[in-house]
Amino acid sequence: MESTLKVIGSSATGCGTCKPTGCGSCGTAPGKNETPAALSRRAFGHAVLAASAGALLTGCETQKPPEAVSAPAPTPPALSPDLAVVQSSKGPIMTMLDEFYKMGPGPSSSHTMGPMRITYDFFQRVSKLPEDQLQRATALKVHLFGSLSATGKGHGTDRASLAGLLGKAPATCPPQFLDALAANPDEVHKVTIGPKTLDLTLKDIIFDATKGDFHHPNTMTAKLLAGDATLYELEYYSVGGGFIEWKGYKPPDKGQPKYPFEHARELKKYLIDDKIPLPQLLLANEMAISGKSEKDIWEFLDQVAEVMVRGVDTGLTVESVLPGPIKLHSKAAAMQRNLKSTTKGEAGRAITQVASYGFAMGEENARGHIIVTAPTAGSAGIIPAVVKSLRDLKTPTQKIRDGFLAAAAIGYLCKHNATLSGAEGGCQAEVGVGSSMGAAMIAQALSASPKVVSNAAESALEAHLGMTCDPVAGYVQVPCIERCAYGAVKAWTAYCIASEEIPEERRVDLDTTVAAMALTAKEMNAKYKETSEGGLAVSVVLC
Ligand code: SF4
Repeated sequence: MESTLKVIGSSATGCGTCKPTGCGSCGTAPGKNETPAALSRRAFGHAVLAASAGALLTGCETQKPPEAVSAPAPTPPALSPDLAVVQSSKGPIMTMLDEFYKMGPGPSSSHTMGPMRITYDFFQRVSKLPEDQLQRATALKVHLFGSLSATGKGHGTDRASLAGLLGKAPATCPPQFLDALAANPDEVHKVTIGPKTLDLTLKDIIFDATKGDFHHPNTMTAKLLAGDATLYELEYYSVGGGFIEWKGYKPPDKGQPKYPFEHARELKKYLIDDKIPLPQLLLANEMAISGKSEKDIWEFLDQVAEVMVRGVDTGLTVESVLPGPIKLHSKAAAMQRNLKSTTKGEAGRAITQVASYGFAMGEENARGHIIVTAPTAGSAGIIPAVVKSLRDLKTPTQKIRDGFLAAAAIGYLCKHNATLSGAEGGCQAEVGVGSSMGAAMIAQALSASPKVVSNAAESALEAHLGMTCDPVAGYVQVPCIERCAYGAVKAWTAYCIASEEIPEERRVDLDTTVAAMALTAKEMNAKYKETSEGGLAVSVVLC
């Protein structure tokens, strides 16, 4: 292992492909722009893989780096003024943990999780109506409009909406319940609201007009009826990422963060100059913005971890053809089963283990089971794979909580200064950010320095720049599930690289790469932004 790492280290003299007009860092001296002596490019690639996997298996012992002279921080390039994130630049980051890590059914945060959160909200509202009003109730109905109506069938919008209306909380609804709703579409379900018990079926979720003058492309209305009369009605909007709003919605009042920051460079000042630990800083901000207690915050993060690990564990045991026209067979369970007799050695075993966790949760998302957005539903397999592999290492609960905070910090920075949406920035914004969050989580949970946490996040994000979003048939399956597996493995790889290099000598900083992602998002062809009009989506032929 040591010799492999030395070989890799000695290669850091340039990419080897520079033309005279390129970056120039490769140099032209004979041998300088070649792969290390005695290693073909293929063997060199294997060496990199083996180094990261071996480091993963061994807990990636960080060697003490030699003293390094700190290089001045490079200034990120100026962003184009017409980028959305620049136009809506808005002071310090105010995102809260429960806005970011949202629990609910996959496969789509806007078309499945959002609608279930909406109908569960409606269920709670009507449950509080006066008893005499509820006595007259005869039915509950939901109307889906716009994109929810046009593509809701494929996303399971109807069963998710019905589950919420039946009073099932999005975070805790058992997967078997959701599966049964889909398997028995004509079944009549009972829901008790105050003094009244009503019958509900999937037919009460109505696919209404797909085109019209809607307040939002994902609009739905929920109604409590007494015969033809409406007792209570509310118009809702699933505004993306699992966020929901309604007619007359006002954002919740928030406090001011104790340590305001917009970019990694301001964070760095607190962490390195003022020596405030990252988890402590984020906890203080979360408490100040949300008004929650420390206990509430830890409980929330523990629940997030449980939902994630439960999802991975379920995904590792279920083998099925995933819903939809692709007829994609799940892989996680077979990968896990075959691990017992693998002949792939340490590297193959470690990579297969982590990848199978990513597959497991990605497949659970495709089944429409409960997931956590981290940062989105499509990328929801990455952080659970990281959490599960950290638990394999017997990482203490508090360290995993700290890891969640570090991951959130990276997600917040990307959300604030670029985008988390495949529709806006391609898959670099979803799987790329998820992998970057995963790298930061591993580094923080394994007690790396703030610089290593930041470098690991940068490295993983850099490895995904330019990745397009081209889901086959519009389903969050190909390439999404496999990308979750890669995202998790790359998170570990990024951590291993960041913890082995001399931290102060990393050439690219996190702010620069986030800015590069925003620029790439802006210049990416619209075909590659979740439209299924380019790339794999048009190359793969479905029979
Ligand atoms: S390909 Fe698109 S839908 Fe799939 S995970 Fe990436 S961004 Fe999400």
